[in-house]
Amino acid sequence: MNHRGRLTSDDMRRLKPLHFDVPEGTTQVHVQFDYTPLHPAGHQHRHQLSLMVFDPDGPRLGISRPGKEGAYINAVRPSPGGVPAPIKPGIWTVFVLVYRLLTPSEPVDYTLQITTTSDEISAEPVVWQPGAVRSRGPGWYRGDLHAHSIHSDGSMTIAELVRFWREREVDFMTLSDHDTISGLAEVRSLAADDLLTLGGMEISTFLGHAVAVGVEEWFDWRTADGRQIPVPEIAQAVIDGGALFTIAHPRDEGEPWCCGCRWLHEDMMPGNALAVEIWNGVWAERNEEALRLFYSWLNRGHRIVATSGTDLHRRSQMEGPGRTALNVVFAEDLTEKAIVAAVKAGRSYLSSGPELGFTATSASGVTAMVGDRLPLEPATVEVCYDAVEAGQLLRLIVDGMPYAETPVHDVSGQLRWPLSKPARWCTVELRHPDEGLFAVTNPIWFEGEA
Ligand SMILES: [Zn+2]
Ligand SMILES: [Zn+2]
Repeated sequence: MNHRGRLTSDDMRRLKPLHFDVPEGTTQVHVQFDYTPLHPAGHQHRHQLSLMVFDPDGPRLGISRPGKEGAYINAVRPSPGGVPAPIKPGIWTVFVLVYRLLTPSEPVDYTLQITTTSDEISAEPVVWQPGAVRSRGPGWYRGDLHAHSIHSDGSMTIAELVRFWREREVDFMTLSDHDTISGLAEVRSLAADDLLTLGGMEISTFLGHAVAVGVEEWFDWRTADGRQIPVPEIAQAVIDGGALFTIAHPRDEGEPWCCGCRWLHEDMMPGNALAVEIWNGVWAERNEEALRLFYSWLNRGHRIVATSGTDLHRRSQMEGPGRTALNVVFAEDLTEKAIVAAVKAGRSYLSSGPELGFTATSASGVTAMVGDRLPLEPATVEVCYDAVEAGQLLRLIVDGMPYAETPVHDVSGQLRWPLSKPARWCTVELRHPDEGLFAVTNPIWFEGEA
């Protein structure tokens, strides 16, 4: 197939399928995509165009960053983004997707060349065995829930990404490439006693991104006839499969800078989402807005939890200024299932380094930790902290409003606040007055009759 086309910013949010025929006996499909200009005049950033290929059964290859040599799909060793499986003859589908086209007056011309070959593939299939992680039992585990590799638009191989996290001595990390699961077998194979590797994917629709963590299968948001599947349906399928469905970076800049980077799914505010990523990359105003959005959802009665994600694409991202956060999770064990279950239950806080222990004891003597529920009655809230810095302050948030604030003078210590009136939920933030957030807990809930 040889196809030429012209794209403008009007093509953002468009899902127009192009079909091609794959004959019987085909062993490899090659997709070559080129476009010009790469950069709009006067801009240092590239236009961002992606491709998605479906075979007759479903999604098969996601290309987030088209390369010079194009991409191969075969049974043995496809290009990153592609899933190895025999080539099924029949009608295949390809989508050209516009995520960023910065100059409406200057269109982009592209060529799409798809060739099929029937030569025998000589490479040996790579078989990935899941890595084993020794059981450590219940405890606090620190890790990341959102990162990319060369299987989408990241610059690190999976081995490099795993090494990156190993060097930082976290307990768990996640691979969540855009719209593909092609790296999951490899990333899970690299788990060992010192590092659990979780499998995820970032479902990257034109109206928002969601990170599904703990997935085994590919949850695509498109059908081969060019329909967008309603996101609540995708979320439910992810959740029914036992995975975590997280709304990612909900308050990022959207179009035209990045079609899909801002969460605009009106039918999912937050709908059946289990979590929202309120700390994406380094702490910034967009995260502050996401935190406020999270609190407003809690006030409307949604039992959603907060997560952080480095959204790591390249090493240099973590070497510049600014604070990223890890999820500090109280899990039954260091396994993928237990980490996902604990995050879902809200048994976690997000931190750039400091440690926060947050508990509450109700007037009737019941004690709760983050994610737990207490009877709706007056309570005493307690925070144990460590590795904080002078100048920071601890703030108790009750039903979305600052309730109490105490400057911290020592590196570690504990604080107690009485909650004289019954509340619905409370969280604790560690902040610096000028520099923003350093840590925030998930809520402790109160329920029942006042
Ligand atoms: Zn994203
Ligand atoms: Zn991402």
